[in-house]
Amino acid sequence: HAPNIRPIIRALDESAINRIAAGEVVERPASAVKELVENALDAGARRIAVDYSAGGKVLIRVTDDGCGMTPDDLPLAVARHATSKIDGSDLLNIRSFGFRGEALASLGAVGRLTLTSRADGHDGASLTVAGGRMGQTRPAAATRGTVIELRDLFYATPARLKFLRTDRAESQAIAEVIKRLAMAEPQVGFTLTEITEGDAPRTIFRADPQSGDFFDALHGRLSHILGRDFIDNALKIDIDRDGLRLTGYAALPTYSRGSSVQQFVCVNGRPVLDRNLLGALRVAYYDFLSRDRHPAAVLNLICDPERVDVNVHPAKSEVRFREPEAARSLIITGLRTALSSAGHRASTTVAD
Ligand code: ADP
Ligand code: MG
Repeated sequence: HAPNIRPIIRALDESAINRIAAGEVVERPASAVKELVENALDAGARRIAVDYSAGGKVLIRVTDDGCGMTPDDLPLAVARHATSKIDGSDLLNIRSFGFRGEALASLGAVGRLTLTSRADGHDGASLTVAGGRMGQTRPAAATRGTVIELRDLFYATPARLKFLRTDRAESQAIAEVIKRLAMAEPQVGFTLTEITEGDAPRTIFRADPQSGDFFDALHGRLSHILGRDFIDNALKIDIDRDGLRLTGYAALPTYSRGSSVQQFVCVNGRPVLDRNLLGALRVAYYDFLSRDRHPAAVLNLICDPERVDVNVHPAKSEVRFREPEAARSLIITGLRTALSSAGHRASTTVAD
């Protein structure tokens, strides 16, 4: 440290900025998968296939049948802060998974990213960005939709590479992300396939698109992912109060778990890890369960997007409500009422 030398302020170059941002958006392969699958959902995909190798460290490939991109879209898609989802004038009215326009720029900064896409009425094209350096847009054979291939994630940021866990642990995290999104989007089909060199591809997870109305579809999807035992013991939840709506399935107290592994909460269809909402779920069951048991539920809290801020963290898994108490109390009283009317008695805690 040289106290006498005045430091020089410099503007960082684009590639450094993207690598720094990538640290927040893409923590591990599973976060890359989340961003890419959310993009596919935003593009209106009905079927999404995810392939990966070595826990996603060597390859992640997401194929969708969504609206696709035109050749001119491709360079914009990988540019930082470029998005088709908001126009910047209304950050309080976000209806898509994405809006920050930084996932693809970040992934292209820390890995080798290739986009191949075709939109209706346009030719197919592909573009590669590796370590922040963009190649040329080239014609490519493609069906309608998009294939995004991410190779060698974090090769451009070796420090981050060192923090990754075993292939097995990273694979599990990827499967978790897919399952969460599959529960949030029951009408969309998902496949997750592990590709190992010299071996046949292995299907890790498969969920066919569910038909019928949302609840029918959700019923089928949850039965597939959480098992018949969950769904046969779950109450359909659909409560409307003060402009907030709570939907989903909540398991009866008799179907409780030893941990919180079967607790999934979405806000406006976006899977979130929100302490406040998960806390409310716990409180709702408090009188129905013994202390070592945990409720199982898949819930979606729907409200006017203006009443919730999803722009809290780059990964968008936290949210802030304008009236957090209203959200909390809907979960607590809504579920309590549902459980009581299903004939479940709150256990009277007897002091012994
Ligand atoms: P954001 O999702 O926040 O807009 P991204 O960096 O994830 O930012 O994506 C940038 C843009 O690229 C999106 O706004 C969208 O227009 C386009 N895009 C990305 N993935 C897809 C896809 N699978 N299908 C169609 N367009 C896509
Ligand atoms: Mg996105």
